[in-house]
Amino acid sequence: MLIDSHCHPNSEELRENAQEIMDRAWNTGVGRFLIVGCDLEDSREAVTMARRFEGYGAYAAVGIHPHEAARYGETLPQALLDLAGDERVVALGEMGLDYYYDHSPREVQRKFFALQLEWAARADLPVVLHIRDAMPDALAILRDFAGRVPMLFHCYGGGLEYLDEVLGMGGLCALGGAVTWNRSDELRDVAARLPADRILLETDCPYMAPVPFRGKTNEPAWVSRVYETVAKVRSVSVGELAAQIERNAASFFSWGMENV
Ligand SMILES: [Zn+2]
Ligand SMILES: [Zn+2]
Repeated sequence: MLIDSHCHPNSEELRENAQEIMDRAWNTGVGRFLIVGCDLEDSREAVTMARRFEGYGAYAAVGIHPHEAARYGETLPQALLDLAGDERVVALGEMGLDYYYDHSPREVQRKFFALQLEWAARADLPVVLHIRDAMPDALAILRDFAGRVPMLFHCYGGGLEYLDEVLGMGGLCALGGAVTWNRSDELRDVAARLPADRILLETDCPYMAPVPFRGKTNEPAWVSRVYETVAKVRSVSVGELAAQIERNAASFFSWGMENV
């Protein structure tokens, strides 16, 4: 069984065709999906979709993406906190810092990041992190939560430089389509170097389509391409890698291994 540990079938681009997209993924062997929210509405949609596709092994993460942080005054909306109580919700996020786009002021991003980490500690849920061009600031905030909040660095982009510290905090790294791209030698080095029990794989669809679909609208079925590349880089079979990732995901998200 393959797992897409980060996807957005709830996004505008994919929502209308969600049924066929999920069918295609299921028929390709994807049997667990983490559907991730980026703001309140999107998180609501993630939960709705996780319920709708419960039979496909769909779960949800709810949170406020750093891009959206500036839209939410001083505190997290109560409606978002309430969503986390849904039985399909297994993580909070995506949350973090994005200094590449800077869609929200950095100070606001940092504040909302810390608020959501405190929420995760209280709710006893793991977090899905989105960190782009902001590793030093992100790690400075995360250090306070190491050992208290399990962390998944989605679309890990810290290279070898930050890997030791990420692993030292107990973090997992999720790799996506970028690991298949021609220029991504450093990311493939990361894929080779990661301890077996710290890896998850994802699509981040509709973005980040893997080779040979670059430029197209990504979808969960194509996580198989990510598995193939990472298996090759690590000199293991896809089956062996898939079995390891099933264990990693079950342990991180506390979802069952039944029907696996
Ligand atoms: Zn992201
Ligand atoms: Zn995402």
